[in-house]
Amino acid sequence: MGTHISDFQVRGAALTISTRAILFRGQSKSGNTLWHTATPPILSEALFFKRMRATRFTQSHEFLMTHAPTTDTRLDLSQLLSRRAQSIDASGIRKVFDLAAHLKDPINLSIGQPDFPVPEVLKRAAIKAIEENRNGYTQTQGCPELLHAIWQRLGSELNWTHDAAHGLSAIVTSGTSGALILAMMCLLDAGDEAIVPDPYFVMYPQIAALTGGKMVLCDTYPDFRMTAARIEKLITPRTKTVLLNSPGNPTGVVLTSGELSDIVDLCRAKNVLLISDEIYDEFTFSEFREEGRFPTPARFTKDCLLIRGFGKTYGCTGWRLGFAAGPHDLVQSIAKLQQYTYVCAPSMAQYAVAHAYEVDMQPWVDRFERRRDTVLEAFEGIANITRPGGAFYAFVEVPKSLNLTASEFVEKAIERSVLIIPGKVFSTRDTHFRLSFAAKEEMLAKGLGILRDIMQGR
Ligand code: PMP
Repeated sequence: MGTHISDFQVRGAALTISTRAILFRGQSKSGNTLWHTATPPILSEALFFKRMRATRFTQSHEFLMTHAPTTDTRLDLSQLLSRRAQSIDASGIRKVFDLAAHLKDPINLSIGQPDFPVPEVLKRAAIKAIEENRNGYTQTQGCPELLHAIWQRLGSELNWTHDAAHGLSAIVTSGTSGALILAMMCLLDAGDEAIVPDPYFVMYPQIAALTGGKMVLCDTYPDFRMTAARIEKLITPRTKTVLLNSPGNPTGVVLTSGELSDIVDLCRAKNVLLISDEIYDEFTFSEFREEGRFPTPARFTKDCLLIRGFGKTYGCTGWRLGFAAGPHDLVQSIAKLQQYTYVCAPSMAQYAVAHAYEVDMQPWVDRFERRRDTVLEAFEGIANITRPGGAFYAFVEVPKSLNLTASEFVEKAIERSVLIIPGKVFSTRDTHFRLSFAAKEEMLAKGLGILRDIMQGR
């Protein structure tokens, strides 16, 4: 966009012309190859260029016109991409990775996935499904084996059963993300509002661009609790849904049953749908469980959409598997959209994960809890952290005495080979950083030591 032919050196330029557009290749003054399409407003300029080239580069023109590989051609996508696509910024996490690209053996405390392999039983079930040629589409809502396992789990955990009397349904989705985006597409028309936490999982604000809805941020600083009182102030006649995430990314904060039941009451009173992103449900540490159970709003209502995933719990994020369960009519709408978008979730992963609930992940949850303790100890008296009750993240405040934004602090950490993510990737503020303790204990200890040193000016 905005490139003029005069910006090109004539050398090496090639041109194809149709009545609608002109495509030419040039070289920028810095020597990079550039491709450019010209549409009618600058057609005359391009034609002038063509005449000039024709006199000086007839041979190369002929060659390029007849032999130029089509893979060389480039449309000016800036003119074609939707505003939706253009409004989405590349994930800030990726920017951190770019910054760290030159590091040889970084101490990586930025990873948002567990550091354990997929349990053997699931691996074998996936391989078996492939070898038995069960590789075709499944039903849109999911394969019967997995749906059966999900209902068994929801029945024993929440007393949710799949029958007409309860009005509940479930659908297997392509990751938790698949469930989130389809649910939001079902709920939000242009201008409709969804209340989401700040800090948030990186996808949440982008749901606005993807749906045309508006994401209203609920400021949860400094304790990161998304309470009914904080939500209520943000509800307007356009509010369709409140999206909760407990245990939370990036804070690890777990809401209590009391807090959840207040939110359920508020949503019921305001006719707003509660969505509960429970991707980290299994990773709820002992002291934040209630009677041994993970606190969820689903214990108080069936009028909420539960969204859960398998990727984080079983170390198979790349298998892209999650599910949504809740009010039948909403889930049926999600199924309609899934039919014309994802079609179904990956089949071999579904057959495998149908065995997921046979696997005991508690030893790993306990290990993550010990790592959480290590993190808390490392920063005690040095930096503020809200005690993570689950997931595998700590959201650490950069000590004010350093007079640094979180991004500046992260740059210092990267200079010393420690990868962490600045708070502004997850928030409107840039005061904290996210540290993932999904990293081996030795690496975690090393990274924590360096971060402490930076905080203490060493
Ligand atoms: N919700 C939260 C809170 C997350 O942290 C993530 C992944 N980091 C997702 C949803 C998306 O998970 P999935 O890979 O299952 O799409």
